[in-house]
Amino acid sequence: MGFSQKHLLGIEHLRPDEITDILDLADQYVDLNRRDVKHADALTGLTQINMFFENSTRTQASFELAGKRLGADVMNMAMQASSIKKGETLIDTAMTLNAMHPDLLVVRHPHSGAVDLLSQKVNCAVLNAGDGKHEHPTQALLDALTIRRAKGRLHRLNVAICGDVAHSRVARSNLILLGKMENRVRLVGPPTLVPAQFAEFGAEIYEDMTEGLKDVDVVMMLRLQRERMDGGFIPSEREYYHRYGLDAEKLAHAKPDAIVMHPGPMNRGVEIDGEIADDINRSVIQEQVEMGVAVRMAAMDLLARNVRAERINTAVEV
Ligand code: ASP
Repeated sequence: MGFSQKHLLGIEHLRPDEITDILDLADQYVDLNRRDVKHADALTGLTQINMFFENSTRTQASFELAGKRLGADVMNMAMQASSIKKGETLIDTAMTLNAMHPDLLVVRHPHSGAVDLLSQKVNCAVLNAGDGKHEHPTQALLDALTIRRAKGRLHRLNVAICGDVAHSRVARSNLILLGKMENRVRLVGPPTLVPAQFAEFGAEIYEDMTEGLKDVDVVMMLRLQRERMDGGFIPSEREYYHRYGLDAEKLAHAKPDAIVMHPGPMNRGVEIDGEIADDINRSVIQEQVEMGVAVRMAAMDLLARNVRAERINTAVEV
């Protein structure tokens, strides 16, 4: 099992076989996480620093848990979004952290490309935990693992990604991953939230929810990301729910065994009906959270193998 990347910055840099390797290893970590004793030693002796310049609940908690279960020394740095002075502060922070010799740096930042920039300034492996509207690779990987386990495969599926695609790094990473693994992706939502240029990713665009959901295997709902909207993208939440909120009536157009996903945090009654979200026969939202820990363990394990191998090589050269 080889991983060609030094960092995990985006799905765009991964080959299909690397995606499969991460998911296979994550499957093993799912088993470990279901045992009484959940410890392994892939990161023993290594230091993981989590740096979140934007709020996070699930992602930060699961990266922390993943690192601890694998034996790393994990440190969380609380970064105040308001104190960010684009560029300069980020680089200063990177240099400061670098001097602490971390091995893995997990970074979330409100600006697209900021994590990539930071990765060029430090000596350790960097994992992108979400950069602006750009990518959220571990979310797409955990979604892929959830789909693969629920459907028994990760190819030739019809997947509808619905709602606020325009502001969503989750949608972007999923689009790239699902395309690489040869699935058909539909983007469903109003033109204000699903810009036509997304067709470049090979996706079909639907404005009507019932048409967009027709016979799909997977329905992936997205949160309305108000914090990234600077104008009137939707008439009102009520109207939006009426046209695009996932309820039993709209879901009836998907395949009878279609699964329902949401990356969280959810706005019940805005993009999804609470009853659908809680329906254990349709919704895999809790599984997504479980898969998140396993996928992050797998990703950090694979990157740490490269970190250790590079050190051995450097030591031999010296
Ligand atoms: N938690 C996901 C993200 O960080 C999705 C969301 O916030 O709506 O992008």
